[in-house]
Order: sequence, then C-alpha cells, then structure tokens
Amino acid sequence: MTRANWEVVIGLETHAQLSTQSKIFSGASVAFGAEPNTQACAVDLGLPGVLPVPNRAAVERAIRFGLAVGAHIAPVSIFARKNYFYPDLPKGYQISQMEIPVVQGGSLRIQTKAGEKIVNLTRAHLEEDAGKSLHEDFQGQSGIDLNRAGTPLLEIVTEPEMRSSEEAVAYARALHALVRWIEICDGNMQEGSFRCDANVSVRPLGQKEFGTRCEIKNLNSFRFLERAIEFEIKRQIELIEDGGQVVQETRLFDPDRDETRSMRSKEDAHDYRYFPDPDLPPLCISEEWIAEVASGMPELPKSRRQRYVNELGLREYDADLLTATREAGEYFEALRAAANGVDAKLCANWVNGELSAAINRAGLELADAKVNPTQLAALLVRLADGTISGKIAKELFEIMWSEGGEADALIESRGLRQISDTGALEGVLKELIAKHPDQVEEYRGGKDKVFGFFVGQAMKATQGKANPAQLNALLKALLLGG
Ligand code: ADP
Ligand code: MG
Repeated sequence: MTRANWEVVIGLETHAQLSTQSKIFSGASVAFGAEPNTQACAVDLGLPGVLPVPNRAAVERAIRFGLAVGAHIAPVSIFARKNYFYPDLPKGYQISQMEIPVVQGGSLRIQTKAGEKIVNLTRAHLEEDAGKSLHEDFQGQSGIDLNRAGTPLLEIVTEPEMRSSEEAVAYARALHALVRWIEICDGNMQEGSFRCDANVSVRPLGQKEFGTRCEIKNLNSFRFLERAIEFEIKRQIELIEDGGQVVQETRLFDPDRDETRSMRSKEDAHDYRYFPDPDLPPLCISEEWIAEVASGMPELPKSRRQRYVNELGLREYDADLLTATREAGEYFEALRAAANGVDAKLCANWVNGELSAAINRAGLELADAKVNPTQLAALLVRLADGTISGKIAKELFEIMWSEGGEADALIESRGLRQISDTGALEGVLKELIAKHPDQVEEYRGGKDKVFGFFVGQAMKATQGKANPAQLNALLKALLLGG
C-alpha cells in the first residue's frame, strides 16, 4: 500500500445530547439510568390524540451553539418527519430537521501538529433520539427500552474538510470541549451523550472529485474514532489498489477486532420520505431571543485565548492549554482572581506545570485537584513576594497536594521561609568557603563551574531556603573579594 499517493477526505456528523431536564417534544424526564420504559410518555410513543410541543430549553441550546460557532441562526426552520421502521422507534418516524435546519454554517478552529486549521460546519439541526434495543440478558430475543425516545439531540455536520484521522480527532475534541464550555451537553461519551459518525473516502493525490465514501456509525470515544478511520483508510486504499471499488455503505467499528464491518449498503438505503411534521408549526426564532441568549453566553474559548495572549502576555502554548477545556479555563480564572497581583505568566506556568503534572500522576480530573485555586493562589502569593523560594514552593505544593493544608500556615509550622537576611546567608557562605579552600582556588583560577558547587552546597545547608538572587550576588562577592 502506498499511502503517500492518496489523499484522505473526512466529514463528521456528531450527535450531542442536549442537557435539558425534559424531552424535546414532551415533559418526560431525560435522566440517565432509570428503569427501562419508565420515562416515555404518550407524546414520545406517538399515541393518538397527543401533540408534540418544542422544548424551549433545547432550542435555546441550539442557539447557543450557533452563536458559539459564528453560524447563521435561521429565523424560521422546519421540523420534518423521517420515516422508517425499527423496533426502537415507536412512532414509525423520527422528528428531525431536513431542508431548513436551525443552525446554518459556522466553523471551528482546530490545532494539530501541523498548526491550526479552520473546519467549516455545514449545519446543526435539532432532532429526537430513538429508543434502545437491548440484546444482553435476552436469549434469542431483544428487549426495547424506550426511555431514550424523544431525548433532544443536536446533530452537527461538517464539510468534508478533514484530511487525516489526527484532524478528525482534533475536531471532535474541540467540539466536545465547546459543547461542554457553553453548557449545552454534558459530553459523557460512555453514556452516549456525544457520539460521532465518520464519513471517510480516499482519492488519488491531485484528483479533484471526491472518492466514494463509507460512513462509520456511532463512535463513542476519541480512540475508537481514530482507529476506525485508520482502519477504513487502509481498507479503502488496499481495495482500490487491488483493482476493486469502494461501495457507499454504512459500517460499524468493532473495537475488539479493531476493524470496521459493513452494516448496510446504499442499495438497501432507506427512502425516508421526509415531509414537514404537520403537528409542529415552523420554529420561529426572533432577533430578540437570539440577543437574549447571546447576553447570557460565557466568554468563548477563542476570544479567551486571544485575551490571554494579547492582554496577559501568555505564550500561545499556555493559552491553548488553558482554553482547551472549560475546567482548565475556570481553574485559571479562579486562580487569577484569588492571586491578587501575581504575574499571569507565573499562574499559567503553575497550572500547566506543577498542577497538571500532579493531576496526571494521580490520574485525576482537574475538578478533583487536591489543591484548589484559592490554595494555589496563597502559595503563589508567597512565592511572588519572596517569602519562599521557587524550590520550596514546589515542595510546599507537594505537601499541600498529599497532606492538605494552607500555604501560610505550613510556611510557619515547617519553617519554610526563604532566608533573605544577608547576615544569615553570609554566615553560611563564609563557613562553606572556609571549608573548601581548594574549590575557592579553582574558582579564582578561572574554573567558573565551581560556582555551581557552592550554590548547591549553600542550598543544601539552608534546606533550599536561600533567596537565589541574593545567594548568587553574595557568593560572587565573597569568592572574588576574599
Ligand atoms: P448524508 O445526508 O447522506 O449523510 P451528506 O451529504 O449530508 O450525506 O454528508 C454527510 C457527511 O459526509 C458530511 O459530514 C460530509 O462532509 C461528508 N461527506 C460527503 N461526501 C464525502 C466524501 N466523498 N468523503 C468523505 N466525507 C464526505
Ligand atoms: Mg449521514
């Protein structure tokens, strides 16, 4: 296989479950994990004599999304019926949006090793989820749980603009972070609140027309997304190079065997017989409503990142990390608010350095960090005002992380104050110089490296508490002057 001769084309369709209390067209609860078939009401089941009513909170979340990606929010959009028969679809149709979706266009910025890229969105539309077929615990039969029927989804569709699995994963991660950032979806992938369909095709380098694509359904982890795409790229290239043709079809990824398998081909593709739902009038969204939603939006990752670089002077790298997730951003904001007067760069270094290393070591999420922003702020205030040295600050952080406690109290009880008293430092240094006459001679003879030896000894003698700047200045004076 000569992958270098081929270009990969990927478009993603993502289903994000909107974090509402109730369903998209009924008042039934959407809480996860309830007893099967206890949360589907007459509307969700499409029983005669009931009418769907759109959930304002779901529409509002679609508006939030549209604003966050700079899309056009349609003043009028249409709910349509997508007709098909399946045991987990009690009505015989799914209410979705076809010709006129609520969110049109927009884009998302992604970051890969090659740099940044803008991925354009085609659309995002509102629709209801179906129920769930259960195969475990039913020998020779299937169980149906209709609790999920009618759960609100936003389906977000990209243009076919991604060119590698790395870009597709970067996009999925950025989208995942964004829907959580604007609080429209909890992003829980295990529970299926955020799942991707990947459309993948390949074409010879330089060819203009797209190749035939396959759609891999329901990828509910970033790793599966990457592995499914990688498998599919290889399969398609090998197939064509062996003289075969890709058939347009829907495929499923099997994580146990690390491969995709055909689920249904285009030949037996459904004719969904879409038509506007006669029970639902057009969805009208006024300018006022959009403005109201806009006024309640949090600062978005994109503008926050710019602010961090332009106003706080952070490096792009740090700004990227601090805006990669809502949690990181919140932590940093809380830290800054509490660490009055401490340089933003120092705060960023600590969040992206010590703190994130400790979190990774412990296998924790930022939300469960053992040192909270207020505690870290107190430590950084003492580092910035010279009460403790950088080395001691790291030790203090370790103590706070493993044993708890507050910076000021620990500094006092453990005697961690930096020695900035010239007299005390001078005493220590004079003693060292007297103890190591040979090294003093070497230094005076031009062996600069010996300076480091004395610094190390002095730090050891003061348990790392010597003020480094002062130590350097004094040591230099004493070594040269003596
Ligand atoms: P459908 O409605 O049948 O799923 P769409 O045209 O709406 O088809 O496209 C669905 C997704 O497939 C979009 O994300 C789009 O970018 C992507 N896509 C379309 N053509 C290709 C292709 N040749 N290769 C890869 N992705 C594609
Ligand atoms: Mg599709």
